[in-house]
Amino acid sequence: MFERQVKIPDAEEILQKMPLSFELKKIRDERTRAVADVITGKSEKMLIIVGPCSAHESAPVLEYVEKLGKLNEKVKDKLVIVPRIYTNKPRTRGVGYKGMFSQPDPTKSEDIVKGIYAIRALNLKAMEASGLAAADEMLYPANYDYVGDLLCYNAVGARSCENQLHRLVASGIDGPVGIKNPMSGAVNVMLNSIFAAQSAQVFKLNSWQVKTSGNPLAHAILRGAVDGYGNDIPNFHYETVMQVAEGYKNSGLSNPAIIIDANHSNSGKNFRQQIRICEEVMQNRLYDKDFKFIVKGFMLESFLEEGCQTEDKIYGKSITDPCLGWSDTEKLIFDIAEKA
Ligand code: PEP
Ligand code: MN
Repeated sequence: MFERQVKIPDAEEILQKMPLSFELKKIRDERTRAVADVITGKSEKMLIIVGPCSAHESAPVLEYVEKLGKLNEKVKDKLVIVPRIYTNKPRTRGVGYKGMFSQPDPTKSEDIVKGIYAIRALNLKAMEASGLAAADEMLYPANYDYVGDLLCYNAVGARSCENQLHRLVASGIDGPVGIKNPMSGAVNVMLNSIFAAQSAQVFKLNSWQVKTSGNPLAHAILRGAVDGYGNDIPNFHYETVMQVAEGYKNSGLSNPAIIIDANHSNSGKNFRQQIRICEEVMQNRLYDKDFKFIVKGFMLESFLEEGCQTEDKIYGKSITDPCLGWSDTEKLIFDIAEKA
């Protein structure tokens, strides 16, 4: 049984009410190009997608991205920093806080119209505060129209990797889309998903039959896997990455690129391990030019305060996955920039 609760306005209506200004569009397009250049290899800079697991409250996220904007200025010769402003959370068991999109106030019940406006407002303010455009997870592909104009990077999460609509919508996005390996860790599933996203597609999206051009900027994110007993299996180590690289080579995909997600099942959510994981990956980049060629960046979970909390009591602390705190993040990013 479905109860129709609220009619959500069309994306055109919402975009008209809260548009992206000419100046901010310039930032968004410039950042999209900067990320695209990393993925295609036109630029040798590394991509760093960094920020809280979920953006549950605007004020600390804005404070955080402002810091990132300043940090980006110091490392921009070596790195392209993209803030994670993640507003949709897939939950392992499907229940719990589902992100600003569904719950603009995490302590209150769902209000999606308010959520859409809250996300647009947050992204617009974040661009103004930092000069950077953000990344989000495309958890609900049909919602891309509501936020797509603001983002310079879209991720397809581990739980969505094999989903048809995710792959097809990714094929029409004019910009980089990172597709995570599925929870099982199956690399062929991820490569097939990238293949689908890089191919031209015709399908039904909202009320339209649409045709896409295929997205050559679709690429891989390795986030570790979980075995049948719930144990985390990292996939950032040299041997694993080189096997993925080999699979990439044999698949005929454009722009082979791997981003290492240092948290999730790579760190076993021991957030401090992100530092060690990045160090190891940077060492392997120095050791092997093929590894360096394909590993083009990191995804990091980080917020103002380290760790996480079950309820929003401490300002700037994650209410979903545990994060590195700001000072460790800054140190880590300087360290990556030095070795990049
Ligand atoms: C995330 O990036 O916070 C996330 C939910 O990732 P994954 O899909 O890898 O679990
Ligand atoms: Mn997370």
